[in-house]
Amino acid sequence: MARVLVGVKRVIDYAVKIRVKPDKTGVVTDGVKHSMNPFDEIAVEEAVRMKEKKLASEIVAVSCGPAQAQETLRTALAMGVDRGIHVEISGPEYETLQPIHVSQILAKIAKDEKADLVIVGKQAIDDDSNQTAQMTAAFLDWPQGTFISKIEKTNGELKLTREIDGGLEMIKIKMPAVLSADLRLNEPRYATLPNIMKAKKKPIKKLSPKDLGVDTAARIEVVSVEDPPVRQAGSILADVDELVTKLKEGGHV
Ligand code: AMP
Repeated sequence: MARVLVGVKRVIDYAVKIRVKPDKTGVVTDGVKHSMNPFDEIAVEEAVRMKEKKLASEIVAVSCGPAQAQETLRTALAMGVDRGIHVEISGPEYETLQPIHVSQILAKIAKDEKADLVIVGKQAIDDDSNQTAQMTAAFLDWPQGTFISKIEKTNGELKLTREIDGGLEMIKIKMPAVLSADLRLNEPRYATLPNIMKAKKKPIKKLSPKDLGVDTAARIEVVSVEDPPVRQAGSILADVDELVTKLKEGGHV
């Protein structure tokens, strides 16, 4: 049976309207609702379903981030993850943390924990990088299955369905492997109150990048962050004739 490692990132909640900081160095995070990255909820759900089907023996969730990352880990524990690892990174070090660092951290923990499968989300909705699964697989030299919408496990092999442009691709890979969860893989469960209570007793181990031998020095400098251009206001027209006239006037027809 497989030991599964899942990456869970704490991000600004998907429903929050993002505000850019006046000095354009980033977005406002203070006092803003944060949640588990939605694709990571899908990754956790899939791991929990594997455990329920007795395909996985143990699920370990990893979150790299400031103290509040523990809340994200607690949510994962309440969904059915067995234990958590908090790699504490905060302040300026967290501001410049990039997927390459997270990938090195996940790869090292995957080896230390003797994981057979690493599942991450296809992308974190804050930075939209879509790099962690790919680089984690590269660091481990394991096969990867990205944008996965279906997982079937046979003897030591995984039959995967990938969401690709305009269709689906079916592949087979051997474990150990790294997967990234796409939207249609499953619908994640909500943590129930009894499970939230139980999750409080589950262990969370704290580590630093240094403990794992990972250098988190920044490799990219963010020059500026800007709001998207403001859309011009539309106008309401009386009927189709007026629309056709306007389109003709504008040279669109
Ligand atoms: P990204 O490559 O940044 O778009 O992130 C892809 C996936 O990698 C996320 O959905 C998470 O599963 C994982 N990941 C990224 N950053 C972190 C983090 N700070 N802690 C834990 N997992 C992460």
